[in-house]
Amino acid sequence: MWYNNILETIGNTPLVKLNKVTSDVKATVLAKIETRNPGNSIKDRMALKMIEDAEESGFLKPGGTIIEGTSGNTGMGLAMAAIIKGYKCIFTTTDKQSKEKVDALRAFGAEVIVCPTNVEPEDPRSYYSVSSRLQKEVPNSWKANQYDNLSNSKANYEQTGPEIWEQTEGKITHLVVGVGTGGTISGAGRYLKERNPDIKIWGIDTYGSVFKKYKETGEFDKDEIYPYITEGIGEDFLPENVDFSVIDHFEKVTDKDAALMTREITRKEGIFAGNSTGAAIAGLLQMKDHLKAGDLVVVIVHDHGTRYLGKMFNDDWLKERGFMKDEKLTAGSILDS
Ligand code: PMP
Repeated sequence: MWYNNILETIGNTPLVKLNKVTSDVKATVLAKIETRNPGNSIKDRMALKMIEDAEESGFLKPGGTIIEGTSGNTGMGLAMAAIIKGYKCIFTTTDKQSKEKVDALRAFGAEVIVCPTNVEPEDPRSYYSVSSRLQKEVPNSWKANQYDNLSNSKANYEQTGPEIWEQTEGKITHLVVGVGTGGTISGAGRYLKERNPDIKIWGIDTYGSVFKKYKETGEFDKDEIYPYITEGIGEDFLPENVDFSVIDHFEKVTDKDAALMTREITRKEGIFAGNSTGAAIAGLLQMKDHLKAGDLVVVIVHDHGTRYLGKMFNDDWLKERGFMKDEKLTAGSILDS
């Protein structure tokens, strides 16, 4: 038995029980290991879906160029699909993203333009603006627009949600998801709520992002916006893909807690996960008093730890930010002391 190309291996990722990092939690916690997708992240699902839908609606034509503002994972999914389907890719990203992510996109033959992080989305230098300008200038191009393109949440409605429902035999009680474009939580969450409206959908947000305040007050508060370190989650605007009606609660996690938990998942569970997974599990632990024995929680492992080797997995990076815990974290730091 074989697959006809790498894209056919997207999806059907395993659920794995967490045993140590959640030992204080009364519920059973299962991690959905989206790193098992061929591009090592959940974004493979929506990237392929956005391309297929754009082909069907005629926005993306043979030999065309795919343009996107992407922090890496969506770009990886788009670049992989572009190779199989014969498109070119130009991505804009920010100088905050891991070098590993940018290098990986370039490895897949994509052109990557790195833009400054700390400018308004409307600023002509922002990665949103640059990708919009390129779309106008590059002939036969299509901007995927993962924030407002609803094929994103649709992919998770059609795939991630049903997989979780079937794998838990309908017993899931809580879904915990880091929220960026909102595609994962809105799509998977909507499917699960349709099957059982009692399932609680918890979004993980970061300090410096607008989601939590907007959900709780309906107010878009610019004071909530400031630079943060956590990658992949939080926004300074409201993407179309965030369906606030399916999200019951947003929990904010600090950069430090997200970074330290990212390391712990790897060291205690052997699951090599990225920064937003650390945030999601740290957020879940903050909410542990709302969980009881018999609850079945699914947390999404969005992407792979390799993309953060130069960041939270690096002791010097942690020390520079004052994130290092008192205890010795590696053999290296024991030798240093
Ligand atoms: N984690 C990581 C590492 C991501 O790249 C993203 C996408 N920005 C998310 C979480 C959030 O997923 P979504 O965009 O579906 O809300």
